[in-house]
Amino acid sequence: VQPFTNTLAESVGAWGEAKLITQIRRWLGSASPASPFGVGDDCAVLAPANRRQLITVDPVIYGRHFDDTVSPLAVGAKLLKRNLSDIAAMGGRPTAAVVALTLDPLVSQTWLRQFYRGLARCAADHRVPIVGGDIAESPGIFAASLTLLGQATGPRILTRVGARLGDRIYVTGVLGGSLASGHHVKFKPRLAEGAWLAAQPEIRAMMDLSDGLAKDLPALCPPGCDPALDPAAIPRRPGADLAQALTDGEDYELVFVLSGRVDHERFELAWSRKFPQVKLTCIGNFVTNRTRSILAVDLKSFQGYEHLQPRRSLRR
Ligand SMILES: [Mg+2]
Repeated sequence: VQPFTNTLAESVGAWGEAKLITQIRRWLGSASPASPFGVGDDCAVLAPANRRQLITVDPVIYGRHFDDTVSPLAVGAKLLKRNLSDIAAMGGRPTAAVVALTLDPLVSQTWLRQFYRGLARCAADHRVPIVGGDIAESPGIFAASLTLLGQATGPRILTRVGARLGDRIYVTGVLGGSLASGHHVKFKPRLAEGAWLAAQPEIRAMMDLSDGLAKDLPALCPPGCDPALDPAAIPRRPGADLAQALTDGEDYELVFVLSGRVDHERFELAWSRKFPQVKLTCIGNFVTNRTRSILAVDLKSFQGYEHLQPRRSLRR
């Protein structure tokens, strides 16, 4: 479905800004609380948090993060879920969101209603109030950017820093083929898993996979080390080859590091009891950068998704 219409009467431009805001609040329904804790004042007001707070921002842009094959319901949900995946990657839980729209006045009323319904449904599922936003006009564009606030679920948050030589590297789920399979809109952010992992002291570092393992994993690598990955161990989506599993991106899975000094079989057993439906795979460990086996995957020979690189065609 196309976000745009050629019929002025069916476009958001026919409403003007004030009416559009009224409609958006109606579409969001209970996901949009009234001011001072929500929409209707200069800022939304949040209660003080007793734990460390998290903040992240990610957009969905027409022609870049979705195209006409994706339903507006799924686009709205994806906008929130991309951000939820980042909160999950720290072991946090979401608390509130604001949404900034940039759109052509010829965006269709029906399309935008479905977009907000998808966002509202996802927000309700995760108990995230949409507490504010902004609308700007720009020709030929539909882009929505969501800023998500969250907080730690316990005394600890997990960051990308903390892995050491000998630590084991794990990923959840399967990798690759996200766009082809529709996973990029169907995925479930790993919030419960991330929060549980943050409570395990033997987990040292974590992140989510958005640009592909080849590009993302180096961020977890301790100084002087390399990841030694067993190519046969990389969990692939059916139909995806190794290169796709490493570089396609939009996996929205967790990659994390378990201390090499603990009993990994015990940890794996605890995981399978807690999350029996979620596949967990040890893909390798961190070794000194002189000892990496020639059989291991050389991540530098694979290219993850590079932002801000000139390219011939838009990524779908
Ligand atoms: Mg991330």
